[in-house]
Amino acid sequence: MQIETGVNLRSYNTFGLPALAHRLVRVRSDADVRAVVDHPEHGRAPKFLLGGGSNVVLTRDVQALVLKIEVRGRRLLEERPDAFIVEAGAGENWHDLVDWTLAQGWPGLENLGLIPGTVGAAPVQNIGAYGVELQDRFDSLDAVDLVTGRSVTLTRAMCHFGYRDSVFKQALAGKSVITRVRLRLPRPWQPVLGYVDLERRRVESGVAMPDARQVFEWVCAIRRAKLPDPSEFGNAGSFFKNPVVSEAQCRDIIGRDPEIVHYPLPDGSVKLAAGWLIDACGWKGKSVGRAAVYERQALVLVNRGGAIGAEVVTLARAIQESVYGRFGIRLEPEPVVV
Ligand SMILES: Cc1cc2nc3c(=O)[nH]c(=O)nc-3n(C[C@H](O)[C@H](O)[C@H](O)COP(=O)(O)OP(=O)(O)OC[C@H]3O[C@@H](n4cnc5c(N)ncnc54)[C@H](O)[C@@H]3O)c2cc1C
Repeated sequence: MQIETGVNLRSYNTFGLPALAHRLVRVRSDADVRAVVDHPEHGRAPKFLLGGGSNVVLTRDVQALVLKIEVRGRRLLEERPDAFIVEAGAGENWHDLVDWTLAQGWPGLENLGLIPGTVGAAPVQNIGAYGVELQDRFDSLDAVDLVTGRSVTLTRAMCHFGYRDSVFKQALAGKSVITRVRLRLPRPWQPVLGYVDLERRRVESGVAMPDARQVFEWVCAIRRAKLPDPSEFGNAGSFFKNPVVSEAQCRDIIGRDPEIVHYPLPDGSVKLAAGWLIDACGWKGKSVGRAAVYERQALVLVNRGGAIGAEVVTLARAIQESVYGRFGIRLEPEPVVV
């Protein structure tokens, strides 16, 4: 086990925030996790798991032992009549995996193209975009317990997936390292086109029955137009979850703000567009120090260059207060604040 000391994490998080990892270990296999667990000194130390750093806000140096997840490998595990089962190491790049599965002729992940980060982090917050969530394509995963060093396999039911949520953000938060993920890509393939931007692309292109590669390209083009490229403006994607309110609460808000963007859910509750709430409070383009609300999408906070985590957090709190003051709704951050 090789411990690196004093590692600057600025290039390891897409917000580009500075923070020092006092100690960092690169994890390339289950055995690497066990070596950490069994280590007389580091075994008991608090741990922080880091994938691609695209869903974290680093506000200070990290005292915990950082486990940088770099488990590689991807393969077709099984070809069933009803699905392709694909397995990938937790350290594989998510977008590259999506691209590779399409190139192999195994469609199903196209709506999740261009989401930054690693395969291992995808189940943590049940990544989702354009009408598909990871849980819709999930088969099972392998993880190593950070106390016992034992490897376990978790099925979909055991992961307790929810909206940007799973057992890895709840009971197993920081307790278990995901090392491999298996995806179930259903056959025959059915496109998921219900999302308004995708439907618009389909109509504009005149393609009645797009193939999966076409959908992937539309998704990537829409994302490139809407979201800042982290290499240009550091960011962590959507900064707040879309809040879910009761129908009565939504009706009350519509009474005051008829324009509010909202989506009724099957259980009778209503999901509100957090970006709309933030925009309505006049935040688009505003900044605190070098942290700002992205001009083209109020849900995204960006690093205008040289920002520190405290500036991002101060801006986020100010937004939360003003949204609460106007709408009585508490916005919950999506990234993990460290
Ligand atoms: C421009 C941009 C666009 C985005 N768009 C979307 C989107 O459309 N939909 C969406 O859902 N998300 C989106 N995100 C958020 C982010 O890409 C995802 O949450 C992604 O899955 C995070 O992966 P990561 O490897 O960077 O995780 P990290 O940021 O490194 O870690 C995130 C969390 O997962 C934990 N973790 C990481 N790896 C493991 C592991 N192997 N085992 C256990 N725990 C682990 C970490 O401890 C941390 O708590 C976007 C982010 C950006 C910057």
